[in-house]
Amino acid sequence: MAIVHAKEMLLKATAEKYAVGAFNCTNLIQIEAVVEAAVELNAPLILQASVAPSKFLRPEVIGAIYKTLAESAPIPICLHLDHCNDVAFCKACADAGYTNIMIDASKQEFKENIRQTKAVADYCHRLGNVSVEGELGTVSGVEDQVRVADDDAELCDPEQAMAFVELTGIDIFAPAIGTAHGVYKTQNPKLDFDRLEKIADLINGREIRVPLVIHGGTGLQPDVVKRLISLGGSKFNVSTDLKHTLIDTTYGYIAANRDEYNPGKIDAAVKAAIKEKINYWIRLLGSANKA
Ligand SMILES: [Zn+2]
Repeated sequence: MAIVHAKEMLLKATAEKYAVGAFNCTNLIQIEAVVEAAVELNAPLILQASVAPSKFLRPEVIGAIYKTLAESAPIPICLHLDHCNDVAFCKACADAGYTNIMIDASKQEFKENIRQTKAVADYCHRLGNVSVEGELGTVSGVEDQVRVADDDAELCDPEQAMAFVELTGIDIFAPAIGTAHGVYKTQNPKLDFDRLEKIADLINGREIRVPLVIHGGTGLQPDVVKRLISLGGSKFNVSTDLKHTLIDTTYGYIAANRDEYNPGKIDAAVKAAIKEKINYWIRLLGSANKA
């Protein structure tokens, strides 16, 4: 029951106006922490790995860890490849058991973005049970190997978004609306709520067909997160927050226990800290008890 792709869980989330947390992980401890926290809150879950950790650990290894944990969990869990700009690696991860693939060809011109995104969507749909996320416009900041300067960030055009969804056959869609990767420089980043509303209305106004993804969750104020969900965001990506928690907790533990040589205790501290963060996000996104 627990191995699912993203689209089916996000159709339900969009209809019921909550969002599923999509949490980026780089190692086993993080993955286990995220799964345990979601199970404890009975929340649907999207585990994410971006390209660098997927290559470092290998897709087969991440796929096997996912399969083992998801099969025994009483909640639906999806394994998502985040921001991959390489069509061949997208296919390799789908082959290795990832159940949602994000092809990020958003830096390409429109036609080329469509061509690459459609190639991945066609491949994943032939495999069956793998859904695909595409992006139009660019989210600023750095996500793994995709780097976009703030002033290069182009927001998503609603009419183009409609065409992009139709022509590529993607299952879920990430429109750039002003959110950013990394740490926001201001408490109130300039987000284009009207643009999101327009896109949601055009694509899902009559019938929910292609759920919408919000990138750059870290640092957004709770009321902003809730507003984005009310306007149609149903997958919420959180990465930077978890990276900081992992590194700060590890550093803090070692600094406080410099004479101790027990890696298991560092792992336990990291796991507890990550679980606390996931708890915060799941409650904020409204996905507790929605499994
Ligand atoms: Zn992203």
